[in-house]
Amino acid sequence: MSKNVVRTVKIEHVVEECKNVKTLNFSVDPKNNNYISPRPGQFIMVWVPGVDEIPISLSHYDSKGNWSITVKKVGECTKALLDLNVGDYIGIRGPFGNGFELPPEKCKEVFIIAGGIGLAPLRPLILELKENHHPFKLVIGIKTRDEMIFKEFCKNFPEDNVSNFYCTDDGSYALKGLASDIFTEILKDYPRERTKNLLVYTCGPEKMMFKIFKTCERYGIPLQASLERIMRCGCGLCGLCVLDPLGLLTCTDGPVFDSEILRKVDDFGRFKRDFTGKKVLI
Ligand SMILES: Cc1cc2nc3c(=O)[nH]c(=O)nc-3n(C[C@H](O)[C@H](O)[C@H](O)COP(=O)(O)OP(=O)(O)OC[C@H]3O[C@@H](n4cnc5c(N)ncnc54)[C@H](O)[C@@H]3O)c2cc1C
Repeated sequence: MSKNVVRTVKIEHVVEECKNVKTLNFSVDPKNNNYISPRPGQFIMVWVPGVDEIPISLSHYDSKGNWSITVKKVGECTKALLDLNVGDYIGIRGPFGNGFELPPEKCKEVFIIAGGIGLAPLRPLILELKENHHPFKLVIGIKTRDEMIFKEFCKNFPEDNVSNFYCTDDGSYALKGLASDIFTEILKDYPRERTKNLLVYTCGPEKMMFKIFKTCERYGIPLQASLERIMRCGCGLCGLCVLDPLGLLTCTDGPVFDSEILRKVDDFGRFKRDFTGKKVLI
């Protein structure tokens, strides 16, 4: 079995989530020798023939081999992905990375905090928690109401043990404010006893995740954050996604890192490497 074999898959269904974001659905054969079942938070390398190969998280998968990616247009390759139609082909490798660790038994309550397209890698985790009837609170931050993704999926909240907090930077929908600030506000109403058994998962802009991490540190709440770095290979060869000073690679040691590690990563919230390997500000 090798996750590095490129498989060609046909786009079967496309969902326009909002302007500049689409979900592409395709299937892989679970009986194929190269098939590896994904875990929440893992990513694949997506090759658009003639354009580039880029890392994209799985926003959905099931036991039958139906996989989805949700892509935001930011440059050439993501634009090419959004221009694809049903029947077009892409190449995929993976799944890669560690993914999120599910909550331990003692963890009574979970916060999932997403910023923008960061909701995509968290979606399989949300589904898994729902399946396990694990209570969670979902905080989704977007710039404006037009950037909402997974509208149908999120409509199913709130349920018995799930609460949903939307917030927009401009106040055009639900709460006005940044996801990191809304999270801090919610915590203020929590008795100290209750924060002891919390766990936070987050994915989104790194500045947002850094603020959430700082809040969690103040309350002693463990956190798992999915980081984004430039990566060419996805499998530990190119080294562009290295985190100083530990030398951890975001592609193979991450993309999800917990508080224990993040405490020791000087780059977190501050630096990443560009395509030449030079350190630049986030
Ligand atoms: C583990 C991981 C999971 C990701 N999951 C998603 C996802 O689910 N949905 C989504 O829309 N985006 C996701 N991204 C980001 C996505 O990889 C970049 O937006 C994409 O690579 C941009 O390529 P481009 O050619 O369109 O843009 P370019 O014009 O090449 O670059 C625009 C910006 O995108 C980033 N970028 C470019 N190439 C890469 C690369 N090879 N690796 C990482 N970042 C790059 C850089 O910050 C760059 O400044 C993920 C990134 C990582 C590392």
